[in-house]
This record gives sequence, structure tokens and C-alpha cells, in this order.
Amino acid sequence: MTVDIAQTRTEVGNYFVSNYPPFSQWKPGFVPEVLDALNQPPRIEDPLGLYIHIPFCRKRCHFCYFKVYTDKKSSEIEIYLDALIKENELYSRMPAFEGRQLRFAYFGGGTPSYISDKQLRYLVDGLNRHVSWQNAEEVTFECEPGTLQKSKLETLKEIGVTRLSLGIEHFDDEILAANGRAHLSPEIYRAYQWAREVDFPQINVDLIAGMMGETEEKWRDAVRRTIELQPDSVTIYQMELPYNTVISQDILKKGVTSPIAGWETKRSWLNYAFEQFLAHDYEIAGTDIVATKKKTCRFIYRDALWHGGDMIGIGVSSFSHFGGVNFQNAHNFEEYVRILNEDRLPLLRAVSLTPKQRLIREMVLQLKTGRIEIAYFQKKFGVDVWKEFQPVYEELEDKSLLQRENGMIALTRRGLLEVDHFLLDFFEPELRTVRYA
Ligand code: SF4
Repeated sequence: MTVDIAQTRTEVGNYFVSNYPPFSQWKPGFVPEVLDALNQPPRIEDPLGLYIHIPFCRKRCHFCYFKVYTDKKSSEIEIYLDALIKENELYSRMPAFEGRQLRFAYFGGGTPSYISDKQLRYLVDGLNRHVSWQNAEEVTFECEPGTLQKSKLETLKEIGVTRLSLGIEHFDDEILAANGRAHLSPEIYRAYQWAREVDFPQINVDLIAGMMGETEEKWRDAVRRTIELQPDSVTIYQMELPYNTVISQDILKKGVTSPIAGWETKRSWLNYAFEQFLAHDYEIAGTDIVATKKKTCRFIYRDALWHGGDMIGIGVSSFSHFGGVNFQNAHNFEEYVRILNEDRLPLLRAVSLTPKQRLIREMVLQLKTGRIEIAYFQKKFGVDVWKEFQPVYEELEDKSLLQRENGMIALTRRGLLEVDHFLLDFFEPELRTVRYA
């Protein structure tokens, strides 16, 4: 289907649902509840993950809404790495961690691949002294193609990375440059070739549908070129405009027209990508991810977190979920480092979830895999989710966004494409209208 890109535009606001309750409800006053959870006896059987936040990038992309630093010197990066090691050590000393093993680790950012081989080994040695991921089933590492050399990829393999995630976003050099990306297409091909030679168990590629300057033709070309590379999985984001991106600020402060195609157009691009990947031996593994059928691709980080598993996020402004409490670290680089130098956890704000909120959190996140199992929620929460949320489910069923089949609630193709726009309907009434982030 060809669509008129100028027909509608994406306006400023958050749509992407990644947690519950909304971030705007997390407050400093609830931080003592984090410490209560960390002082409980360990739940040895429950999965535990570690997220390591590396907030440095070569350039700030115009659509970026993360807290990233593009001007830190090597000495400052090393101070930050020591702070990460210290934070990991402080957690390892808490009663709730005693004897617990990591099931997964995830290096995210920012750009984790921005740091050097030497810094990487220093960080991993320091982290391993306190909590080891030697037995972890999955270690993911996000990379920006232009920051990679073959030797760095070999280091990543040696430190145990099993899943390399390459932030390609697009192949068109004009689009990459217009959106402020630091890399261009030759760096993509070079990095991808090295990554294959180093032979990671799983290589994921990120694409974004709807970058500035996107056209039907260029998007089709990006999908075609991705299929040619044959990655194990492909994550396809629909561009959104949270408040703090460069693009959003231009719209809000300078009154410029949004340069981002509308949601219908982006959905049609994502749908086109789904069709193409399905025709080339991939299957849909979630609302924004396809995976090859040629081997088993697992998403332990996503699945553990979305099934209520514990994950500690270390690093400036990192997010955690532990023992039914959501919490976030200090936003500011200097403050984050200073608090850790005082031997304290750098906790900024938190929210302790009620049983109902835990149920909603897991249900909305698992819906993003494309299907949920009714019996899972019955067993874990003692609730028939269809009955509990019957008016919402029936309305979505009437709109052909989902269907009930064999004990599952499964999203239709349209449901997959629109999921973030209707998940809010499952929120508690008083949290549907608050600002999400
Ligand atoms: S590479 Fe990622 S984290 Fe860094 S500026 Fe771009 S979008 Fe933000």
C-alpha cells in the first residue's frame, strides 16, 4: 500500500509503553521502599538480571530522548566506570542478593561500544568481582557501527557477549546525516561483516521507521538491505517524539511543522517490513521484532523483565525493577558519581506496585510480545484477565485488534501495529490521563 506521507504528522508526546505505573508517578518519597525490598531474604529461584548503562555517544541524534553525554574525556569515563563497579558492589552486599546468580546482563545506552577495549575489560573485571555473569544465559551489548573495530568485537566475544545489537536504524546516508546519526552506511557494512566473522551466537539489527526524510522508496530499500544481511533478529521501532528530543524542541519552541510522518504511514511501513521478513524465513516475535526461523532466537532480557523478573539497572538515570518496586537512579552525572563515592546507592525516585499494578504491568508488557496466556495470569495472580478487563478486551476484539483463541489472547496484525496506542486503556482510570514520562 502506498500512502501519502504528508497526510498526517507525528506530533510531540509519548506513546511507547515500556513500564507501569507511568514514570510520572515515581517519587523520591518512595525510595525507602526500595531499601526494604533489598533487605529482604534472597529469592534464589527468581531470575535476576543486570542492566549496565553506558551514557556516552559520539553525537546526539536529533530524535534521542535519553540522557547522553557527547563531551566526556577519557578520565571522566573512567571515573564513571569506577562508579558502576561501586554500585554493583553495593547491591551485591544487600541481603536480597546473597547467593543469587545473574540470568542475563544487558549493556545499553547511550552507546556501550563507545568505550575502549581497555575500559571494557576494566569494567567487566570490576563487575565480576562482586556479581558474576559467567553463568548468565544471555549477555546483550548495544553497538553503534562507527565505534567498532574488529578487535573490539573480539573483546566483546571474550567477555561473554552472546547477543550483539547493532543500531543501524537506516542505510540511507542522507537520512542518517539528517537525523544526526554518527555513522554512515560504509561503517554499517564493515561492522556487520566483522561481527559475523567474530561469530556471535545472535546478531540483532535495529531499524527505525519514520526518520526525518523517510520516503516509501527509501524505507523499502532499507528493508531489502537488512534482509540481504540476514541478521538473526530485527527490531523495528516506529519513530516517536517525546518532549526532550531536538526535533520536539524545534516543534515546540520554533513552531516548525513536525518533520515526522504520521502514525498511519509509519504503521504501513512496519507492516511492509513484516510482510517482507515473513516472506524471507523470519517470524514475528513481538510487536516490533522479527526473528529468523533458521535458528532459535531467545529474548531472555525482554521475557524475564516482562514476566515480573528482577533487574537491577546500574548507571546514571538507570531503571530497575526489584521485588515489585520500580525505581530510577539519579539523573545527573556528577551527582550519580558523588553519591556512590559516599558509599550510598544513587536512588532518585521509586514506586512500589500494588498487586493490581503488578498484574497490569505484566499484562501490558506481555501483550507487546503479540500474545498472552490466560492461564499464566490465573496461576500467578488468581485472576482471569479477560473477565477482569472484559469491557476493554471486548472493545478491542470488536475493532479487530485482538482475538481469544485456545486459552490465549492474541493481537491481530493491526493490533501488533497499534499496540502502544491502546495499552493505556488497561491502566487504572486515574493513571490514564496523567503524563506518561
Ligand atoms: S546513539 Fe542512541 S543513545 Fe546515542 S544519541 Fe543516538 S539515539 Fe541517543
